[in-house]
Amino acid sequence: MIPTCKETSVLLSQGQDRRLKPSESLRLRLHLLICRRCRSFSQQLEFLRAAVRRYRDHG
Ligand SMILES: [Zn+2]
Repeated sequence: MIPTCKETSVLLSQGQDRRLKPSESLRLRLHLLICRRCRSFSQQLEFLRAAVRRYRDHG
């Protein structure tokens, strides 16, 4: 049920490009609850995404 770190990182990067299915984002969130490493990875991605968005908005 709970995906591995590898699957989680794949889901995280796919989530940048497309909307995840509800079942996928549920699995992702479950993994993030138990895995601190992936949590900090997802925060880094979130940070990068916000930075890109800011950059784009100022485009
Ligand atoms: Zn993990």
